[in-house]
Amino acid sequence: MIVREKSSALFEKAKTMFPGGVHSPVRAFKSVYGPPLFIERGAGCYMYDADGNQFTDFCCSWGPLILGHAHPEVVEEVQKTVARGMSFGTPGRLGNEIGELILDHHRYIEMIRFVSSGTEAVMSAIRLARGVTGKNKILKFEGCYHGHVDGLLVKAGSGLVTLGTSTSAGIPDAVAADTLVLPLDHEDALDEALSQYADDLACVIIEPIPANNGLLLQRRDFLMHLRKKCTEHGILLIFDEVISGFRVGFEGAAGQYGIQPDILTFGKIIGGGMPVGAYAASRGIMEHVAPVGPVYQAGTLSENPVAMAAGLATLKVLLREGFYENLDMRSSAFTLKLQTHCDQNNYPVSIVRAGSIFWIAFSREKISNSSQIDPGSMEHFKTLHAFLLDHGIYLGPSGYEVGFVSSAHTEEVLEASAKVINRGFDHVFASS
Ligand SMILES: *Cc1c(COP(=O)(O)O)cnc(C)c1O
Repeated sequence: MIVREKSSALFEKAKTMFPGGVHSPVRAFKSVYGPPLFIERGAGCYMYDADGNQFTDFCCSWGPLILGHAHPEVVEEVQKTVARGMSFGTPGRLGNEIGELILDHHRYIEMIRFVSSGTEAVMSAIRLARGVTGKNKILKFEGCYHGHVDGLLVKAGSGLVTLGTSTSAGIPDAVAADTLVLPLDHEDALDEALSQYADDLACVIIEPIPANNGLLLQRRDFLMHLRKKCTEHGILLIFDEVISGFRVGFEGAAGQYGIQPDILTFGKIIGGGMPVGAYAASRGIMEHVAPVGPVYQAGTLSENPVAMAAGLATLKVLLREGFYENLDMRSSAFTLKLQTHCDQNNYPVSIVRAGSIFWIAFSREKISNSSQIDPGSMEHFKTLHAFLLDHGIYLGPSGYEVGFVSSAHTEEVLEASAKVINRGFDHVFASS
């Protein structure tokens, strides 16, 4: 077992000050063994905890770090910017630069507004959709996460087409009741919901590549059907690309599937490790936002120059020739090694992948909606997670979380990591 003495002491102290010792729940390691690791430093694909343990990091801060930790070009731009002052509360040149870079290379959007988190982006996008359509209800899918927006912390009731019940205390029933929740990958449920509620629906929001509850890859046909139905009924389609944006390609899932959503939300990679989110759409839709239009939205630290510098430096690297092809090739070789080992040994494991996002499913079945995930399989993940920490590999501390490969994970690192993870699978299935 790795030494976690210092992390453990830090966690005890943190628990006296912060609820659960953390500032975001999954960090507390409740679904895996041991106290959370307090990370002190990262470099490339590695990070180091308070006890000096080194890990190859496949969590990558939950997705933002597509270039790995402390990429020299990002660090340099941040340092240059920070030395000139950290915030002015005025428009800035760096915002123009990153705005132009994004809009010039993303065919699905014409205007963008920067905010400070994915949650804020989604919250603002929903308000915008309501403001544009003059309708109130929203529709989401079970198994998609959209940040901690009140109206989206909602799960399905019983039955195929249901109004939501909240998954958190503190959300008024009236708010949850404006959200419809449907299963993913289910055209009939969608058609039924629209036949009943289309006149009240402002928008449908979906993670086009659902990556917050396993990796629930959707059929393009389903997404196309959704696009077509929304258009028919005057409902805005929001692609929540906070994870998939700039990850599966510069144009994200919209580009990958060739589907034009009405509003897109971004976060994670767009800030290069700093707190940034954004929402974007056509000019016609975005001109509903204040101060041009009547939909209010503001932020003291929006378009913060230091955050813009980190995002800009990151996105510039992504636009270099072959960046995504390279990352995809390496990610695919990596997950193939895992899948091959599991197949050869007849382990019930599927490694699901979308570009450099991967998910270890302890099942042989194809999983496209959340009800197909067996909660019992999470015991396997717990065992694997503990083995991997002991052998220098860091995965997000829950079997429902996806992993990320960054450009800092070299072929050699990925090959060595695959060997360790495959030994981890042997360990899991030897002890079961
Ligand atoms: C992470 C995430 C969010 C929330 O972003 P925060 O920056 O954590 O508020 C919203 N939607 C999706 C799809 C996400 O992955």
